[in-house]
Amino acid sequence: MASNHFDIVVVGAGALGTSCAYELAKHNHKVALFDQFSAPHHFGSSYGETRLFRQAYFEDERYIPFLKESYELWKIWETEFAVDLFHETGYLTFFDQESDIALKMTQNAKKWSISGAHYNNKQLKQKFPMFTINSSLRGYCEEHAGFLNVNLFLKSCLKQLISKGGKVFFNEKVCSWKKEQQGYQITTEKGNYSCDKIIFTVGAWLRNLTSLCEMKLTIRRGVQFWVDVPPLLPKKMPCFAFATNKDYVFGFPSFSKKGIKIASYHPSNTVDDLDKARESYTKEEWNAVRDLASQFFPWLPLTPDNFHVCIYTLTSDEDFILDYSKNDRNIILLGGGSGHAFKFSPFLAKQVSDFFICGKDIPQNLQFFTLR
Ligand SMILES: Cc1cc2nc3c(=O)[nH]c(=O)nc-3n(C[C@H](O)[C@H](O)[C@H](O)COP(=O)(O)OP(=O)(O)OC[C@H]3O[C@@H](n4cnc5c(N)ncnc54)[C@H](O)[C@@H]3O)c2cc1C
Repeated sequence: MASNHFDIVVVGAGALGTSCAYELAKHNHKVALFDQFSAPHHFGSSYGETRLFRQAYFEDERYIPFLKESYELWKIWETEFAVDLFHETGYLTFFDQESDIALKMTQNAKKWSISGAHYNNKQLKQKFPMFTINSSLRGYCEEHAGFLNVNLFLKSCLKQLISKGGKVFFNEKVCSWKKEQQGYQITTEKGNYSCDKIIFTVGAWLRNLTSLCEMKLTIRRGVQFWVDVPPLLPKKMPCFAFATNKDYVFGFPSFSKKGIKIASYHPSNTVDDLDKARESYTKEEWNAVRDLASQFFPWLPLTPDNFHVCIYTLTSDEDFILDYSKNDRNIILLGGGSGHAFKFSPFLAKQVSDFFICGKDIPQNLQFFTLR
């Protein structure tokens, strides 16, 4: 077989593509992973140090069984990669009486036996002195939640992919693909390859592939801010969220030297040019986070110490996309991360590896991800 022929070509080396490529290589498939940049890079969605992992989903309880499986799979990947990817800090949500998010979250935690603890105002103040807590607030801390180390994950996963015989082609954009008598010809900026099957995990760039996906995708800026913590404040803290009925700001404990990270759950302005560097944030973007976060951290500076602009690929219902291309069971699309897909990476990769290789139907429990 020619050396530039692969069983499977994966286009896009963000969290989802890298995971799929690794999972398939682990099952002895000859895999090639392409990216137009050199991953990890700051143009797509899989960047910015950390991502939350939590299971008491207030968004939609159909995701909860997937999260339970993801939790186990992350542990398996940590063993396979021999690195600590998941930091189980707990996830503390502050909320007032009227918070719909908190209601849904705690109802789902109870229904799905997800362990966590409720705190009244006095207990919150005693146990979490790093937050300034006004007297109307209560809290819920999910126990087996925390954050994933983004760059370490991508780097380790790539390393393992290569050790399993996978080939990685960076700074090589896939320009086109053509069905041949047997399989496909893939044309990149640098050459031609052939393969039997293709997985498109191109993140926001799926918007440009209208022949594959007619769904409307909205690309928005998601700005992550870092601030230094005052020296006297306790350093050890859980991941956290401030939930009101108007806004939802979430954050991470200090992990690198950059300080704590805070961001709004509601992404802001849309992005027109995906390939243009996003080198600044707007005052409105920072204020949307600062206005709420400064109630808990009165020491927050007027400007952040650091920031990164990531991009969200939002489907209209915020459910992911996982489906075969129209009339072709040898091409599959995985994306539409909608601001919450990172934590599902090993689960989604395992699903793809299970049904795509045999050309089976999309499993019933994942049908709500099909193109709609
Ligand atoms: C600010 C922010 C916060 C988030 N927080 C969380 C969180 O706490 N928890 C969570 O679970 N999720 C979170 N998410 C969502 C999560 O990060 C994304 O869903 C996930 O990273 C999406 O990964 P991806 O692989 O689909 O896309 P990407 O990481 O964007 O990867 C797509 C890749 O495809 C490549 N590509 C595109 N076209 C081509 C081509 N033609 N040829 C070659 N390569 C190509 C791109 O260069 C890119 O590397 C957050 C997202 C944002 C923006």
